[in-house]
Amino acid sequence: MSKDDIVTSAIHAGLWLVATPIGNLEDLSPRGAAVLRAAKVICCEDTRHSGSLLKRIGASPERLIVANEHTEHDAIESVLSYLSTGAVVALISDAGTPAISDPGERLVRATINAGYTVHSTPGPAAFVMAIAMSGLPTARIAFDGFLPRSGSERRERLTEVARERRTTVLYEAPHRLEKTLVDLADVCGNDRLVVLARELTKLHEDMWRGTLGDAVIHSRTVEPRGEYALVIAPVTAESVDVTDDDIRTELASRTSAGISKRSAVDEVTAALGVSRKRVYAISVTV
Ligand code: SAM
Repeated sequence: MSKDDIVTSAIHAGLWLVATPIGNLEDLSPRGAAVLRAAKVICCEDTRHSGSLLKRIGASPERLIVANEHTEHDAIESVLSYLSTGAVVALISDAGTPAISDPGERLVRATINAGYTVHSTPGPAAFVMAIAMSGLPTARIAFDGFLPRSGSERRERLTEVARERRTTVLYEAPHRLEKTLVDLADVCGNDRLVVLARELTKLHEDMWRGTLGDAVIHSRTVEPRGEYALVIAPVTAESVDVTDDDIRTELASRTSAGISKRSAVDEVTAALGVSRKRVYAISVTV
């Protein structure tokens, strides 16, 4: 440890992003707890949910502001006025790192734009641990949050995941897990590796590793419960074994299901990991 690594314990004025546990309550850092105790104002998604955490650590701010997806915009004005008085304002979400698939992004931007400082006490973020524990490549990663639930936006994002050369991590609700795995297997192919990181840091923590094809079967055999992060292996460049007939079959199965030729070309390119040019050339002959 160098002199530069020695952190100050001072809690300066500004907006503090405080990461809170994603399951195990012991995962709140001592510095995070100190900031919450020192904060004049704490923004949270749900006062009841965060109230028990704050009580547990003896934090009693002068004011709790609800900043959820509906109220974040209104919270900004109050927060900026507290920051103008030199207050310590903390932002927490129900679990994990604020502003990561949780409210906070707009508040952070407004704070920066108004010239105040954003600080942090880092800690749990489900996607980081899911990737780190997955055993899949970690050098380059793509965090894609929650996929759109339906429509062309979902299809486009799935196609992007299928083509992605970085390891991708997604969040998904348990009741939509099977559908998402089916859709992923459709665009990425049954053989793509996936890791289902379930209930990290909790009693029923589980890391399931296998192919997307097997993951679909797995999601049908066990009732998916709890919180899931999905880690998907990158597409591999070696798709030399793919024959023109394979491409023709994949194209035909999509176009006969009503998918446009253009989308079918995109999907097959991604699913088989071959060049778009090659798929396109074959598509004009079928
Ligand atoms: N801000 C949070 C973070 O830093 O990870 C994410 C909040 S997002 C609304 C909630 C989603 O995160 C869940 O639906 C699930 O996909 C994922 N998640 C949260 N806690 C988890 C856990 N303990 N294990 C696995 N995934 C988790």
